[in-house]
Amino acid sequence: MNCTKCKTKAVIGLPRHNAAFCKGCFNGFVHDQVARAIKSEWMFGKEERILVAVSGGKDSLALWDILLKLGYRADALYVNLGIGAYSEQSHAKVTKFAEAVAATHGAKLHLHTVEQEAGAGIKELAMLIHRPTCSTCGTIKRYQFNRVAIEQEYDVMATGHNLDDEAARLLGNVLHWQEEYLDKQGPSLPASVAGFAKKVKPLYRLSERELAAYAVLNRIDYIVEECPMAKGSKTLQYKEVLNRLETESPGTKQTFYWGFLDKQKKKQPTATTMTEKDRAVLHPCTSCSQPTTAEVCSYCKMMARAKTVVPQ
Ligand code: SF4
Ligand SMILES: [Zn+2]
Ligand SMILES: [Zn+2]
Repeated sequence: MNCTKCKTKAVIGLPRHNAAFCKGCFNGFVHDQVARAIKSEWMFGKEERILVAVSGGKDSLALWDILLKLGYRADALYVNLGIGAYSEQSHAKVTKFAEAVAATHGAKLHLHTVEQEAGAGIKELAMLIHRPTCSTCGTIKRYQFNRVAIEQEYDVMATGHNLDDEAARLLGNVLHWQEEYLDKQGPSLPASVAGFAKKVKPLYRLSERELAAYAVLNRIDYIVEECPMAKGSKTLQYKEVLNRLETESPGTKQTFYWGFLDKQKKKQPTATTMTEKDRAVLHPCTSCSQPTTAEVCSYCKMMARAKTVVPQ
């Protein structure tokens, strides 16, 4: 198998593009896909400051790497969830990348440790406050990323969600007709109100397999295991189904998700309606000042509850 572009020996075949690439041309392809995503969805410009949410996995570290190589001003935030060996290993991978690669571009890593603030790791905390682990985790991560983005004056927050993540999420939302979520499934969500950072997903044009190949070819040392809490999740089931369809008909995920985005663009202008709706009900949390629909935001409520139940 030879590279479609330069005809030297290929290292990866991409059935959905009917192409194969050598390492150099594959890196060019990946960078080009991200550059196209940034441009077509008006994500950010070269002068803006970006905060990348990193987990230690291939997608978020590859995203940080690609943005720096494309010349963007990208720092990162890692939230240590306190899930035993998984968190220890992922923390080590993030620190290693930050020191060995990001620092050479002048980029900085911010850290937040759940255990330090809540007095317990995510699993124990969720159990003590009687909430599912993943929803506790979601509240904490959303809050901390938004807090750091606003406090440190980043223009935009970027996450490593890839084509597989977005197609699986879309499948779940369609199966349950979650119309409210469908409206928010685009790869670029504007800052709906002051106090909420803009959120973007620059990897939505690349598949999980392509990002794993990018990480390996570029010697990015990432944690291969998924978070142990993800075991048996609906998202993993949807991904499996989509992978089977993709094997039979390459390009299925892309047609499904990109087709949805095209239709959303034609539909318009839900973003404006949502903004007005949000503006009407959101006000600053009386405890931390982040926007919320209640008097006290769900994060502050959770931390207040943690103080009463977590053994000191
Ligand atoms: S699977 Fe792990 S990282 Fe993902 S939401 Fe659940 S606890 Fe958080
Ligand atoms: Zn080539
Ligand atoms: Zn609050």
